[in-house]
Amino acid sequence: MYRITSLTNPHIKAMRALHDRRHRRRSRLVLAEGVRIITEAVALGWRAERLAFLAGRENDPPVANLITATQKHGGVVLAVNEAVLAKITRKTNPQSAVACFGEQWQSLDDVLALNLAKTKPKLPKQDKPQNKVWVALDRIRDPGNLGTIMRTLDAVAGAGIILIGATTDAYSVEAVRASMGACFNIKLVACDEAEFIAFCQQWHKIKQSRIIATALTATKEYRTAEYTAPLIVLMGNEQSGLAPNLAPCATDLVRIPMAGRSDSLNLAVATALMLYQHYHY
Ligand code: SAM
Repeated sequence: MYRITSLTNPHIKAMRALHDRRHRRRSRLVLAEGVRIITEAVALGWRAERLAFLAGRENDPPVANLITATQKHGGVVLAVNEAVLAKITRKTNPQSAVACFGEQWQSLDDVLALNLAKTKPKLPKQDKPQNKVWVALDRIRDPGNLGTIMRTLDAVAGAGIILIGATTDAYSVEAVRASMGACFNIKLVACDEAEFIAFCQQWHKIKQSRIIATALTATKEYRTAEYTAPLIVLMGNEQSGLAPNLAPCATDLVRIPMAGRSDSLNLAVATALMLYQHYHY
């Protein structure tokens, strides 16, 4: 364990640099803030490469557990002061611990394999639905929307998110913050449009599988679709909506009714409405 008060220490600079878009993508590290979120990530099998915590808290049981878990697999543990935590997090009131983890990605083949698996793990009753839903997002731009969608997907015990095309950085500090740690409990897949279209052909071979896409131009009301899994909810881009090439991938194209003057709902809100249709189905 290192005790660090210098704001220019290389470990501190490396963690702080995760706010920079290019550095974050290059380092492939994810910054997690707060003892609760870090503890949940560790419980889910994520390994902290670096853990920085407020010096003096090392004997608090949750912090002590994080220190042990990090050291067990060779991660770096840093006891720091509040100024250092503020520097890393760029916040005036920082959490008492921050950690960085290596990012994790799945492939479209993994999505197919998971849904083709004959033996599904038995989930406790309260964890309904038993079948897990996926969300596919066409060129999502806003990290706040993406984090909110991760959080909502986690709330309905969904499987993961398929990011199609050029999207916002799923593991940016903003997206991770908006997800409130849900990014550690869902799977993430990235692909381009052609790969997604080819994947859909395989997906449709899975018994009773569905892809429900949303579009403002659709005529079918969203509550009339069947939301049973295996299900992918396909959502369009914030500005331009669903790409024309993606609409034919869908089993159903639906619209959420609106009675006021707004021409569309926020993407994360529309996704939440769709996911809760599945949850209640
Ligand atoms: N100007 C865009 C358009 O023409 O589609 C608006 C995009 S909207 C902000 C982002 C995405 O949220 C849409 O592509 C769609 O997937 C979903 N969405 C928002 N409101 C919707 C609604 N009322 N019905 C169906 N989908 C909706």
